[in-house]
Amino acid sequence: MAVTAPRLWLEGALVDATDAKLPVMAHAAQRGSLVFDAGSFHPTPRGPALFRAREHIARFLRSARAVGLELSYGEEELLRASVEVVRATGRDEGLVRWSAFFTAGAPDLLPRSSRGHVAIAGQLLEEPGVPKPIRVATFPDARKAAPEALDPSVKVGAAYLGPMLHRRRAKAAGADDIVLLDREGHIAEAPVANVFAVVGGAVWTPPLRYVLAGITRDSVLALARAEGIPVREEPLPLETFRNADEVFLSGTSLPLAPISHVDGRALGPAPGPVTARLTQRFLAIHSGSDEAFREWLTYV
Ligand code: PMP
Repeated sequence: MAVTAPRLWLEGALVDATDAKLPVMAHAAQRGSLVFDAGSFHPTPRGPALFRAREHIARFLRSARAVGLELSYGEEELLRASVEVVRATGRDEGLVRWSAFFTAGAPDLLPRSSRGHVAIAGQLLEEPGVPKPIRVATFPDARKAAPEALDPSVKVGAAYLGPMLHRRRAKAAGADDIVLLDREGHIAEAPVANVFAVVGGAVWTPPLRYVLAGITRDSVLALARAEGIPVREEPLPLETFRNADEVFLSGTSLPLAPISHVDGRALGPAPGPVTARLTQRFLAIHSGSDEAFREWLTYV
């Protein structure tokens, strides 16, 4: 869980978060067309550092383009603004959330203007630190939208409604989160995280066809390769996932969440050894003490 810091960046200036209001008739609200991205920042001996901020901003700009939002800011301006936002939090750990949205009124299907507005909020984590093991559920009919209907690489508000309802259902069934299946019935992803299994010593994650190109996912694959752990980006059958040696979620605010139970059945110790090893490597990178991945940090 994260709470928004008192000040956020809105169209070039830091303002009180409570003053940043969206009209109820805005296209962003009526049609769910707001696009967003979220990155993390972490304490280092040289002050807070943003993790892979350029990749988050590039993905944010791709999402905006896909929805037809025309923005007045490019990657460099957004990176500078993000640094300002982190400084304004006065903290050394949290999230940065970029949003772009149409404000043009009347709930027509097509927005009346393609002008996009940008807000960048600092968010503080209520429970920083390594996440506790979680329980996940799967349901045969809890699936990702078909990529022909909704491109899974676009982070747009409307895409999260189905996953939100599926998570609610998983919680009602006693789990913490849902793992959605793809059209073929294989593992896809969780509502806001990618999914990994460790099978026979290899780290296995579904390919990008049905899932978001998570920046943590990409980092896990890079770290596994650096550690000499074999990686597989292949369709992940449900039964393989259920019987894996370890399973975990990956996402910016985690970065890895070990899974202790799938559909009510306990797996081995969570975190298992591979999950723990990758988590340690993440923590070293976040804290600026891992030379090999130094270029992933932007010091604030
Ligand atoms: N999948 C979805 C659908 C998401 O919303 C997120 C969160 N951005 C992720 C996966 C994880 O992506 P990342 O590692 O870039 O946070």
